Amino acid sequence: MTASYPARVATNILPKSVADKLPEAFEEWSFTEETIDHEQAIETCQLCEQEELRYHFEIRNRLTSHTLWVGSQCILKFELSVFEAGRKLSSTDAKRKLERLTQKMRLDSCISALERLAAAEPNPILPNALKYFRQHKRLTPKFAFVVLWRLRVNNIDHSPSFFKVELKRDLHKQHLRDMPLSQVHEIWPALTGAQRQTAMRMGHSAPKT
Ligand SMILES: [Zn+2]
Repeated sequence: MTASYPARVATNILPKSVADKLPEAFEEWSFTEETIDHEQAIETCQLCEQEELRYHFEIRNRLTSHTLWVGSQCILKFELSVFEAGRKLSSTDAKRKLERLTQKMRLDSCISALERLAAAEPNPILPNALKYFRQHKRLTPKFAFVVLWRLRVNNIDHSPSFFKVELKRDLHKQHLRDMPLSQVHEIWPALTGAQRQTAMRMGHSAPKT
């Protein structure tokens, strides 16, 4: 029989803590600022044993110096300490900080895929797309099409939904409106729900699943 969720957490954390029960043991642990992007959702939380994690966050026990790699949800759920400039953050600010770190890992993974692509293909559009993405953290609809298409063709590992698309300016809306449907479908995974609605109001249709 599989151990229950609270029992699993206790089994994983108590031997590495001084306190002999929960929640006291949680007070000894804090986020170390170390993160890992495993690039695929293949890892397990060493605290609750949740599977299919892509991002690991390291926690450390200040009394025993033991460390564990966990999911951000566990840090928030058990209110493990998260610091900023030596100050312990409120749970709202801790959540915001971990979300920002996750967002940074997503941006970094997009940039590294784009760099690999620009190195693999002498296409003058790609360095410009990379420059644009570094600055705006988004791609124009036209850049998004070229980038996602060429990443796919070159078989470069990437997460299409991490590439956000800029669609506030009229010019970019016009470019999306004029785009052939096959190109719209190429950027579809990168569009938000609201952007997909906009695309459909322009006369495009969703890809068939
Ligand atoms: Zn967990």
